Amino acid sequence: MSQQRTEIQTLGEFGLIDRLSRNFSLHQPTSVKGIGDDAAVIDIGAEYLVVSTDLLLEGIHFDLAFTPLHHLGHKSVSVNVSDIAAMNGKAEQVVVSIALSNRFSVEAVEALYDGIRAACEQYGVDLVGGDTSASHSGLLISVTVLGRVAKDKVAYRSGAKPNDIICVTGDLGASYIGLQVLEREKEVFMTNPEMQPSLEKYSYPVGRQLKPVARMDIVHELADMGIVPTAMIDVSDGLASDLFHIGKQSNVGARLFEDKIPIDQAVYETSALEFKIDPMTCALNGGEDYELLFTISPQDFEKIKNHPDIHMIGYVHDKPGEFVLVSKQGTVVPLQAQGWNHFRAQA
Ligand code: ADP
Ligand code: MG
Repeated sequence: MSQQRTEIQTLGEFGLIDRLSRNFSLHQPTSVKGIGDDAAVIDIGAEYLVVSTDLLLEGIHFDLAFTPLHHLGHKSVSVNVSDIAAMNGKAEQVVVSIALSNRFSVEAVEALYDGIRAACEQYGVDLVGGDTSASHSGLLISVTVLGRVAKDKVAYRSGAKPNDIICVTGDLGASYIGLQVLEREKEVFMTNPEMQPSLEKYSYPVGRQLKPVARMDIVHELADMGIVPTAMIDVSDGLASDLFHIGKQSNVGARLFEDKIPIDQAVYETSALEFKIDPMTCALNGGEDYELLFTISPQDFEKIKNHPDIHMIGYVHDKPGEFVLVSKQGTVVPLQAQGWNHFRAQA
C-alpha cells in the first residue's frame, strides 16, 4: 500500500480542522453545536453551556523576549473569554494547563499566574482547575473557558441574513502594528543591547498586542439594548477572514465600506510611515484585535446607532461568496482574507 503524504501547509489551519472533523458527528442530544463556531454549545437544561479552548505556544503565539509573563497570563484568559463573548455568552470558569521547561523559575510562573488572576478578576471568572507538566521546549499554556448563555440569546456564526447590518466594536489593526513595533525593537536590541527600546510612543498598539481585552462589556450592553446579534464572531484572525466565516456559515455575502472601518490614529501614524503597510490591510488582515464582529437585523438599527463603540461597517447580501469593500473613492474591490495561519507562519 502506498502511503500518501500531504503537507499540512497545503490545507492550512482551517482546511486541516475541516478534514479532521468531517468523520465526526454528534450523537448526544445535549451536543447542540460542535466544531465550527467560537465555542461549543451544550444543552444543560434551562440554559446553554458554552465551552472553548485555546492553546498558546512559546515561539508560535508569543515571544518571551518582549512579552512580560504577567501580560501573557492575562492574554491567555482574555482570548478565551473573547470566544464566549462571541457566542453572546458570559464566561464563568477557566481551566488552565501549563507545560514548563526548567528555564522557568517559580517566580516566573507566579508572574504568569498574577496575570491570570488579574484577568479572572476583570471578567469575573473563577480558575477551577488545570494540569501541570514539564516541557522540553519552552512554555505552553492551554486555557479552557466555560460560560453560559440563555437559549434564545446564543449567537452563532451562521445566523446572518440578507440586509442585516454588519457591526464591529472598538478599533482594528492596532494589535498587528503593536507586534510589528515589538519585533522591530527586539531586532534593534539584539544587534545593539545598549539600546533601550522606547515604546512610549507606541503604547496603544503595543498594549493592544500584549494585553487585549475581551469585549464582555458589549455582551452586557447588547442585552441592555435588547439586541440579539443574528451572527457573531470575535476578530482573532482579521476582519476579512472572520467576516468570511460568518458569510460562509450563513450562506451570504457582504459589502463593507472602507470609510466606516474603525482604525485608531496610532495605526495610521505608524503603519504607513514606519512599516510601509496600508492601515486598512492591518484592519482587514492583521488579527488579534479581539473585538466583536456581528450582524444585527435592520430593525435594531435605531437601538444601536448612537453607541459610541459600535461601528456599522457594511451590510449582508444574498450572494454567497461575494465579499467586497467599497473604497473611499467609491471603487468596489474584492475582500482578501489572509488571516493568521500558524502553519504558514512557521514555514
Ligand atoms: P477560534 O479562532 O474562535 O478560537 P478556531 O479557528 O481555533 O476558533 O477553531 C474553529 C473551530 O474548530 C472551533 O469550533 C474549534 O473548537 C474547532 N477545532 C479547532 N481545532 C480542533 C481540533 N484539533 N479538533 C477538534 N476541533 C477543533
Ligand atoms: Mg473566536
